Amino acid sequence: MRIDVITIFPELFDAPLRTSLLGKAVAAGRLQIEVHDLREHGFGKHRSVDDEPYGGGAGMVMRPEPIFAAVEEVAADPTHVVLLSPRGRRLDHSVVTELAGKEQLVLICGRYEGVDERVSTHLADDEISIGDYVMAGGELPALVLIEAVSRYVPGVLGNAESLGAESHAQGSLEYPQYTRPADFRGWKVPEVLLSGDHAAVEDWRREEAERATRERRPDLL
Ligand code: SAM
Repeated sequence: MRIDVITIFPELFDAPLRTSLLGKAVAAGRLQIEVHDLREHGFGKHRSVDDEPYGGGAGMVMRPEPIFAAVEEVAADPTHVVLLSPRGRRLDHSVVTELAGKEQLVLICGRYEGVDERVSTHLADDEISIGDYVMAGGELPALVLIEAVSRYVPGVLGNAESLGAESHAQGSLEYPQYTRPADFRGWKVPEVLLSGDHAAVEDWRREEAERATRERRPDLL
């Protein structure tokens, strides 16, 4: 999979794309991620990409021309152009797995008061929100999307088995996890996990997953 990011702050992507799972996937060529500076398509000496809103109001709005030019320069065929936006459809497990099936994602990161509506209506195939709150820009939302989606790209996750058992993969939350020590400050690991009885462990995990989902996220049931 190839992901192209359009942003006025490419440096925000440096460390996250060099670290841990994403860093390894990029270094191994399993994931190709290119970050493009929108200002290369900006206007004038300051490479400006924004202007005042028609109709008045606070703040500045990102102009459409630099964004169209940046996306058209990198878009492959087929592509899937995503505008990060608090007005988009909410990112969840099914959206993540849907996006993981695309050959190319082009992610547009907004800033200021947002992006000229013609980007949404005539350029983007999709608008995605990471939740019902407003961030200062689309860069961190894009990183959230990239990290979540990349885990479903074949070869990125060392142990792909873990994907199926995780929270949200089967419409429920994951069971509780424990590691050493078996007794920490008197808080003991459940006996069944130390028993070596695989069937009993499986039963316990299924019951605990159901319980956690009922108690914490009954809306998922
Ligand atoms: N005025 C806009 C509104 O009320 O809908 C918010 C603009 S926000 C300050 C600037 C940019 O941050 C947006 O264009 C978008 O790219 C990004 N952004 C903010 N919140 C987001 C969210 N929840 N999900 C995805 N992107 C978000």
